[in-house]
Amino acid sequence: MSLIAVGTMAYDAIETPFGKTDKIIGGSATYVAYAACNFVQPINQISIVGYDFSKTEMEALENRGVNLEGVKIIPDKKSFFWSGRYHLDMNTRDTLVTDLNVLADFNPVVPDNYQGSEFLMLGNLMPRIQIDVIQQLKKRPKLIVMDTMNFWIESAMDDLNKVLKMVDVLMVNDSEARQLSGQFSLVKAAREIMKMGPKYLIIKKGEHGALLFHDNNVFFAPALPLEEVFDPTGAGDTFAGGFIGHIAKTKDISFANMKTAIIVGSAMASFCVEKFGTERLKEITRGEIDERINQFVQLVQFDIALV
Ligand code: AMP
Repeated sequence: MSLIAVGTMAYDAIETPFGKTDKIIGGSATYVAYAACNFVQPINQISIVGYDFSKTEMEALENRGVNLEGVKIIPDKKSFFWSGRYHLDMNTRDTLVTDLNVLADFNPVVPDNYQGSEFLMLGNLMPRIQIDVIQQLKKRPKLIVMDTMNFWIESAMDDLNKVLKMVDVLMVNDSEARQLSGQFSLVKAAREIMKMGPKYLIIKKGEHGALLFHDNNVFFAPALPLEEVFDPTGAGDTFAGGFIGHIAKTKDISFANMKTAIIVGSAMASFCVEKFGTERLKEITRGEIDERINQFVQLVQFDIALV
């Protein structure tokens, strides 16, 4: 059971209608790791941070079975910084600042003992880096999943087109799917995006759940209706971590198992939004996860007699 997770390890400043934080730990790879480590360990992390990244936070990740050998520390530069403000619906947000800092000239080196990892989660970051990691792997993983966002669709489409041809599963949110495909209908968008490379496509719709597409098949997983959503930051990455964590644990890459993985991802994301940043993910137990997955089963289970 081996999983490589690539992505940003960052500082975030978040504003929601309910509160504000100055600088807290975030980043796509951080959220992926906190979610996936509940299912598989070690998580072979690949990322980059600056001198300002907290040692305590690094240790907290190591204590969760996250291998940081592939995380480069740059002594004279700052970590990736992102700032965002959520709208009242908590489903949409504006990016206020993206400071690439250390990320700008990151040339990842895959450590020798990461070679042979069976699963690869390419978290949201520069497509050039996603390509670089795939190319360094001597044996292609059983499944390569990638995430991306509007920032890269707008600034690095050439590289994005290349990496899309190299992966099995793409995860994006609904507005990114529309932006990437030029189609408004998500069904049409999915068809177009699957022509660009990935055989499977997951479209995340925030509080409205997620769709999984493959050939002519579609599966829908709801999001758990929560009384309070405190901070949606990282929900997408946490979803990704739960998804790949389940797949890596079961080693089953069938469409049927991806359906289960989407439910697991949704369950993990539902924890993430309950507190600011990674706070909630740091405290959850296996028991709570199982209970929540059960809530999902109850949410969608019904009998119907056709009359
Ligand atoms: P999510 O809410 O799942 O889309 O992810 C939020 C996380 O993504 C934050 O913790 C940010 O640090 C990180 N992030 C924001 N913009 C980018 C970007 N352009 N590339 C990589 N990571 C990013």
